Amino acid sequence: MSHYHYLTIEQRERLDTEIRTRIATLRGAVVQGLRRSVHADAVRLADQLEAGDDAPTAELETALQLAALEREGGELREMLAARARLHTPDYGVCADCGADIPYARLEVTPAATRCVGCQSRHERAQGGSMPTL
Ligand SMILES: [Zn+2]
Repeated sequence: MSHYHYLTIEQRERLDTEIRTRIATLRGAVVQGLRRSVHADAVRLADQLEAGDDAPTAELETALQLAALEREGGELREMLAARARLHTPDYGVCADCGADIPYARLEVTPAATRCVGCQSRHERAQGGSMPTL
């Protein structure tokens, strides 16, 4: 039993475009974040060496930038995986219960690998607070 055909060609193409757009945006954000964080680290180190102190506020700033970068990097990874999966029978099928993930959900969250019910169960089980996918 294949779920391959439940999305129309048009829907799949729209998702393809959406995924590619998001990848381009995320890739730009991650590149910027990487450059910024490397730059920030270098500046902080220079400041510390010059001042001879620990500059704790600069560290907090760097930590926040790295957290954003980690999130964007994670989203980029998920989006690249979605692009690779889009034209396979696995795409749009819940990894937990095997149900079709509604097109409306995929439009909003193209990298979704679970239906809404399984995703919230999964997040509760993980105890995570991140409302991703
Ligand atoms: Zn499910």
